[in-house]
Amino acid sequence: MAILTIECVRGDIARQPDIDAVVNAANAQLLSGAGVAGAIHRAAGPELAQACRPLAPIHPGEAVISDAFGLPNRHVIHCLGPVYGVDEPSAQLLAACYRNALRLADRHGLVSVAFPAISTGVFGYPLAEAAEVALAAVWGCAAELTSLRRVRFVLFSEADREVFQRILDGGEKSP
Ligand code: ADP
Repeated sequence: MAILTIECVRGDIARQPDIDAVVNAANAQLLSGAGVAGAIHRAAGPELAQACRPLAPIHPGEAVISDAFGLPNRHVIHCLGPVYGVDEPSAQLLAACYRNALRLADRHGLVSVAFPAISTGVFGYPLAEAAEVALAAVWGCAAELTSLRRVRFVLFSEADREVFQRILDGGEKSP
């Protein structure tokens, strides 16, 4: 098992040039939209929507991978998070997003992946709860990963970054 570095930064998921794959907080049809999906599709260009068409629809907890086109990354991994209080059990479905995305990245031999806070925007998941689930999911599957070395959480505000950082600092450090 390799050492997995986990970091929390404030920033834009569409501007992470040193990362192999960025994760899209997608919708089921893998179309552009508000928030993360809009930022990723705008930066990637129309080819991304075209590439996604045969991969859709996806279900809560699932992850699929595509090329990244105009983004400064090799791949985009599209995850459909649960709508909080609607897609149940929300915590298990959210954890599955992170696990499936990490496994997909690892199977493709990628070294680094960056996640937004899936489900915490339009899908209504409370941020601190989502951060607990996200970090526990990463810690939980770290031992099985072979090529992945770096997981970055990209939070849109400093307040959100601090929530993730606090849980990262207070939590389990190794699997
Ligand atoms: P979901 O539909 O899964 O809730 P959203 O895209 O609505 O996804 O939001 C997920 C989280 O990503 C929210 O916390 C939101 O503030 C944040 N966010 C929105 N745009 C960006 C961006 N460009 N980069 C990183 N995070 C973003």
